[in-house]
Amino acid sequence: MSFATSLLPFDADTLTLIADRWDTPCYVYDARTLTDNYLRFEQALTNQPHQLCYAVKANPSLAILQLFARLGAGFDVVSGGELQRVVAAGGDPNKVVFSGVGKQTDEIALALSLGIHCFNVESESELYRINRIAGEQGQHAPVSLRVNPDVDAKTHPYISTGLKSNKFGVAHDDALRLYQLAASLPHLVLRGIDCHIGSQLTEIAPFVDALDRVLSLVDALAEYGIVLQHIDLGGGLGIRYHDETPPHVEAYIAALRERLAGRGLTLLLEPGRALVGNAGVLLTRVEYLKPGAEKQFAVVDAAMNDLMRPALYGAYHDIVAVHPRDEAPQQWEIVGPVCETGDFLGHDRALALAEGDLLAIKSAGAYGMSMSSQYNTRPRAAEVLVLAGQPVLIRQRESIASLFENERLPD
Ligand SMILES: *Cc1c(COP(=O)(O)O)cnc(C)c1O
Repeated sequence: MSFATSLLPFDADTLTLIADRWDTPCYVYDARTLTDNYLRFEQALTNQPHQLCYAVKANPSLAILQLFARLGAGFDVVSGGELQRVVAAGGDPNKVVFSGVGKQTDEIALALSLGIHCFNVESESELYRINRIAGEQGQHAPVSLRVNPDVDAKTHPYISTGLKSNKFGVAHDDALRLYQLAASLPHLVLRGIDCHIGSQLTEIAPFVDALDRVLSLVDALAEYGIVLQHIDLGGGLGIRYHDETPPHVEAYIAALRERLAGRGLTLLLEPGRALVGNAGVLLTRVEYLKPGAEKQFAVVDAAMNDLMRPALYGAYHDIVAVHPRDEAPQQWEIVGPVCETGDFLGHDRALALAEGDLLAIKSAGAYGMSMSSQYNTRPRAAEVLVLAGQPVLIRQRESIASLFENERLPD
C-alpha cells in the first residue's frame, strides 16, 4: 500500500469503532506516534545540552500536553491561556518559554508568578513592560530577544516569519543595542537568544543560515560582556503531507549540532508540527454525493471550521477511505457543509465513494483542532487518543447549547 492510501498509524477497525462510539467529525491521535516523534528528537540530541519546548499552538489538547510533559518536555506558549493549559496538564512552568508579539500585562504577570524559564521578547516596548511588571512583583524576569535573522524560509508566505517584512522579532541590526538596553534594566536577567523563521520548512539550509546569523550576534554580544546561556532556534521543521521530502529529524539536528560544537550553549527547540502533525487524522463521513456537469462533489460532515488549513493556505491533506471500495475511483471535490466556496478539504481526489462512507483526512494532528472555529454554529469536533490500541475520549464534542451560553438577549 502506498503512503497516500495507507491509514497508518491507525487501522480501519479502530477508526470504525471510534466513529460508531463518538460520531464524526472526530480528531483521532496516536499516542505511540506522538511518543516516537518526541523520542526521535531526544535521541538526536543525546549529549547536547538541550530542552525541547513543544509549541502548544500546534495542538493544545490537555491529554497531548500531559503525554509530552511526562516525557520531560518543556513548552513554547504564545498566550496566558496556553500557559494555563500547560499547568492544568501537569507541565513544568520552569520549562516554559513565552513567545509572541503581543504579550499582555496580566499574561506577563502570570508567567512571572509561575516562574517560567524565559520570555522570548519581540520588541523594545515589551522589554520595558516586562521590566516594569517584574519590578512591581519584586522579581527578576528571565528574557531572551527574538531576533529576526532575515532569511527566507521558502515556505507559504502566511507561515514565513523570519523576513524583515514580518511582524516578528527585532531586527538583526538592532539586536546589539537592545541587548545592551536589556542588560541595563534592573529587573531583567538575560538568558538567551531566540529565533523562529517559519513553519513547514522542507530544507535544512534556512535553519543553518538563521543559526549562523544568530551565532554571529552571540559572538558580538560576548565582546560587550554579554554572555548567554541558551540559543533557541524555534520550531518549523516540516512534515510530509503528500509528496514533500522534509529533512529527517536526525539530519536537521546534526546540522545544528555541528555549528554549536564547543560553544557551551544550551539548545532550545520549539517543534510543533513535527511532533504532532502525522500523529492525527480527522475522521469524517460522506453525507451526500452530488454529481454535477463539471465537478462531482462529496459533501462530508467535516468542514473548514474543523480543518482550516486547506481553505486558509490551500494546504493539501491526503484523504483516504477507511474501508476502500473495489469499484473504479472517480474524481471528487471533497467539501464541507459550510456556506463558503472556500470550504473544501480536498480538490479532485480519486476515490470510490458511497454515501455513509468513512474517510480519514490525514496529517491533521497539527493546526487542525487548534485552528478550528464554530463558524456556522457548528460545535467543535470530539477528540480521541489511541493509547496502546485502546481509544480514549480526550475531548467530547461541544454541545449546541454551549455555543451560545455566553450570549445575552437585550430584554
Ligand atoms: C508556531 C511556532 C512554533 C512551532 O512551529 P512548527 O512549525 O509547528 O514547528 C515554534 N515557535 C514559535 C515562536 C512559533 O510561533
